[in-house]
Order: sequence, then structure tokens, then C-alpha cells
Amino acid sequence: MRAPAGQMIDPFGRTVSYLRISVTDRCDFRCVYCMAEDMTFLPKQDLLTLEELDRLATAFVEKGVRKLRLTGGEPLGRRNIMHLIRSLSRHLGTGALEELTITTNGSQLERFAAELADCGVRRINVSLDTLDPDKFKQITRWGNLDKVMAGIRAAQAAGIRVKLNAVALKGFNEDEIPEMLRWAHGENIDLTLIETMPLGEIDGDRTDQYLPLSAVRAQLAERFTLADIPYATGGPARYVEVKETGGRLGFITPLTHNFCESCNRVRLTCTGTLYMCLGQEDAADLRAPLRASEGNELLSNAIDEAIGRKPKGHDFIIDRETRKPAVSRHMSVTGG
Ligand code: SAM
Ligand code: SF4
Repeated sequence: MRAPAGQMIDPFGRTVSYLRISVTDRCDFRCVYCMAEDMTFLPKQDLLTLEELDRLATAFVEKGVRKLRLTGGEPLGRRNIMHLIRSLSRHLGTGALEELTITTNGSQLERFAAELADCGVRRINVSLDTLDPDKFKQITRWGNLDKVMAGIRAAQAAGIRVKLNAVALKGFNEDEIPEMLRWAHGENIDLTLIETMPLGEIDGDRTDQYLPLSAVRAQLAERFTLADIPYATGGPARYVEVKETGGRLGFITPLTHNFCESCNRVRLTCTGTLYMCLGQEDAADLRAPLRASEGNELLSNAIDEAIGRKPKGHDFIIDRETRKPAVSRHMSVTGG
């Protein structure tokens, strides 16, 4: 069955309206749970150009995508990325797109915040796992907390709403989470905690990092009053309101299956590979149909065919026998 024009509907009746694009696999940080220190990145010639990314994103918008998130690697690290963001903002102007946003490590946000706001970016996600400068260095290997803080302040000053994403890591930041929560909510910033996902080989052992959010929530509930709220973004986060701070706290627990039935998203890599599920290997190549002709018919057919294969759910496990990740590609390839 073909979806009505301007809509993509998968075999399980889910409307796909959210596209995340990893615009680069490179990054100026080396977060220990995300990358090995000595990463091999894609050869630059394999990357889609910014014009090709624009054409692809636009094809998705024409097929019903209402929300576009640029991620990476570090999206603000890709050269001339503001050209792409400026160009994509035209779809906000026509009303075809509801939201254009990014997920960033914040290292270069100070420089780009005002321009992002000018392009119609209203909310962004900034990843931050600790407020302690030494621990920040330890977890990101190459990052500088002051720069990220300056970036967050610049975004807020430009009128962009910031949400923090923090990966909960056993023995690293579990004791700091209450303090991060108080600080973020005091700054009018929502906080979302993420469970580690077994994506790609890293230097350490993932089973050592795994901290179930059920345990974090139980600990937080001893200090704070957490009220479940129906706030839904079509994504994997479950939200509570923290009575003491008046702010929102999200929990992303990808290893449980509680969100697949409402999944509205697909992910595109910087080489034009479309992943229909973060937790599955199946993918569709969109670069070949994109480059095969100037018109979009081949591309449009390839997208339809891919959406027709969107799986019901994911297969994440951290295999305790082999200690191998369930999905071999890194998060920096699909962007989370
Ligand atoms: N560089 C940008 C950033 O850090 O925000 C965007 C890309 S990063 C891959 C997107 C998100 O994925 C970040 O919040 C990061 O903490 C998270 N992430 C990376 N590897 C992860 C893993 N193995 N498990 C859970 N979250 C992960
Ligand atoms: Fe870079 Fe983001 Fe991965 Fe950290 S989580 S290494 S900032 S891509």
C-alpha cells in the first residue's frame, strides 16, 4: 500500500515525520562511551556535499518530514554548516517544516548561537555529562567545559531554549545527577538522562559503564518528588516533573522496548545511508539514487522502499559473553 502524497507510513502504521541527519562522523571530542581515542573516520570524499544533504533533506520534507535534527559527530564542526542550516530554514518559512534543530556538544556554540537563532532554530540539545571541569576533561578526553558553558549562555542569550542530555555512567556521574538537575532547572534548562547504548567498539568495556536509569530514578525519588507527565515528543524519552524545581526531567532507556511502537523517526548518515532503526543494521543507500539523476523520482522511490522496511523494534543487548556491541557502528555515524 502506498502512503498518501506528502506522508510516509511504515508497515506498522507509524507515520514517519522526523528525520535526523548526521552531517559528519567527525568530532572535536572523544567521549569515552562514544568513540575510541584513535578513531578512523570516513574519507572526506565519501561525504555528501552540503548541497546534496540539502537536496536529500528537502526530498524528505516534501514527503512529510516535519522535524529535522542535525547531529553527528559534531554538526557545528562541519565546514560551512551554517550554509546548510540557513538553506534548510526556508522550509520553516513556508511552513513545510515545524522544527529545525541540532544536537551539539556545545564546543562551538558561542560562535554560532546568534546565527542559529536567526535561522529559526528555537530549541537545541546540548550534551553535557558533568559540571566538574576535571571530570568533563576525563569523559570527553578533548573537551573544555568553559567553552561549552559559554556556548549554553550564548544560546540562551539568543533566545534558544536549551535541553541538556547527560549519559548516566556508573561510578562516574551517578552521584552528581541531583546537582546537575538543580543547576539545569535553576537555569530554566530541561535535563534528559540517557542510558548507555551498545553502539560501536570503544576502548573500555561497556558493561562497566551501564547504569540502569531505573536505579537512578529510584535514587532521585528519595530526594525529589517526581510526577509522571504525559509530555511526549514521539521519541524514546519518558518525562517527569520535578516538584521541587518545577523543571522537566526525561529518561531515555533505549534498551527497553517501551518506545518502538510510537517511533516516528529515521536517520540519515553523512554518506547518504538511511537507517530505519537506531538499533538495527538494516539500511538503504540513498546516495546512488540521489546521484543517478537530477530529478527526485529515483530518490523518492528509494525512500518509499526503505520506509516499507522499517522494522517493528530494535535488538539492543550488551552481550555479556562476547562483550561485543550489538550494533557495530558508532553513535557518531547515526547521530543518536
Ligand atoms: N556531538 C554531538 C553531541 O555530543 O551532542 C551530537 C552527536 S552525539 C553522538 C549525540 C548523543 O549521543 C550525545 O548526547 C551523546 O552523549 C550520545 N551518545 C553517544 N554515544 C552513546 C552511547 N553509546 N550510548 C548512549 N548515548 C550515546
Ligand atoms: Fe563527539 Fe558527541 Fe560522540 Fe562526544 S558524544 S565524541 S561530542 S559525537
